[in-house]
Amino acid sequence: MGTDCRYFNYHIMSSNIAVKRICEFCLNTFIARTTVTHYCSLKCNRRHAKQKARDLKIKASDLEVKQTAALIEVNKQPAEFLSVREASKLLNIFTGKRRK
Ligand SMILES: [Zn+2]
Repeated sequence: MGTDCRYFNYHIMSSNIAVKRICEFCLNTFIARTTVTHYCSLKCNRRHAKQKARDLKIKASDLEVKQTAALIEVNKQPAEFLSVREASKLLNIFTGKRRK
């Protein structure tokens, strides 16, 4: 009894904030000193930033390809390389306007 309370006070009174977090890049658990830390290290921070930039580019070009494909496919059968989900997604975009 009382130990928990002292333990609690110790943490409240300590000036350093220690927050257990999971690195967004490597998914390791680490102790963050600020509540805004997202990475266990600068290395992960930089790597994730790079990865995000690359993903964004891929997503952008992916979208372009999909839009082009949609425009081509709208007058044809959905191509076989499209998954059912992708095909129905494309169909949903165009069925509203271009239902035969
Ligand atoms: Zn990390």
